[in-house]
Amino acid sequence: MLKASQKCRRDDIYSVTFFWGHGSLLVVSLLESEAVVIKTYPLAEADKIVVAYTRKYGKLRGVARGARRLRSRFAGRLELFSWIGISAFERENQDLVQIDKVDLIRSFGLGCGNYRCFLQLNLLGELLIETVPEHEPNEPLFRLLLLVLPEIQDPTRSDLAQLYFEVWHLKLAGLFPSYRTCGQCGVSLFNAAHVFYGSALNMFLCGNCKGKALPSISSKSYQLLHHVLTEPLGHLNGSFGLTDGDSRDLADMVETQLQRSFERRFDCLTLVRNQS
Ligand SMILES: [Zn+2]
Repeated sequence: MLKASQKCRRDDIYSVTFFWGHGSLLVVSLLESEAVVIKTYPLAEADKIVVAYTRKYGKLRGVARGARRLRSRFAGRLELFSWIGISAFERENQDLVQIDKVDLIRSFGLGCGNYRCFLQLNLLGELLIETVPEHEPNEPLFRLLLLVLPEIQDPTRSDLAQLYFEVWHLKLAGLFPSYRTCGQCGVSLFNAAHVFYGSALNMFLCGNCKGKALPSISSKSYQLLHHVLTEPLGHLNGSFGLTDGDSRDLADMVETQLQRSFERRFDCLTLVRNQS
């Protein structure tokens, strides 16, 4: 039996503590944030489990009761890659939050230019699901996601947007190597005809230090990498030819580094590559 309640606000979480008759406590927190839906799957007859990457709380898993009914209040608002405002209740010691209210800000999942773009969108979701811990806010990563989502719908921009997300995801995780100088001797790599990448060392190397045969990155790809790491995505020209080979060496290097750093293979990387 409910006897009393106590309210408090901490770090954008509105908590209500219920005191039950037998002395136990039930703490329910209201979570409110912008979010992007990165995965959904059905639960029971009419419910939906939603994995959302939120601006304030990081990755959350929640239940949307009745979301699969035709006249659900969530209809059209919890589709994959929808940018939403979400309100949810979180109980102590429960993994799934209860989704209470969703406002659609913009849908990115329905306007893909082609199947390849659709796979690239799903790659973003797979990377966030497989490599990002739950309940760990990361504002720069959320902003990166919102920056890339509209670009990845456009077939003329999607390869560049994918590369941009992959490089910055590694960079934000502290897993992307310094690229300006040789990791061994420190010489500047900006004027080198070829730059080499040692995946075992996770270093960019000059021709003198590469030791054995290592994959090289052309000067054009190296310049592209410099632009990716120093300019907003919207300022970059999309015609870098990642699919037709011009910058394939850079895409290969980044994909190798992704799978090596996170110690797993990403299914969507293979699917996207097979669509090239
Ligand atoms: Zn060197």
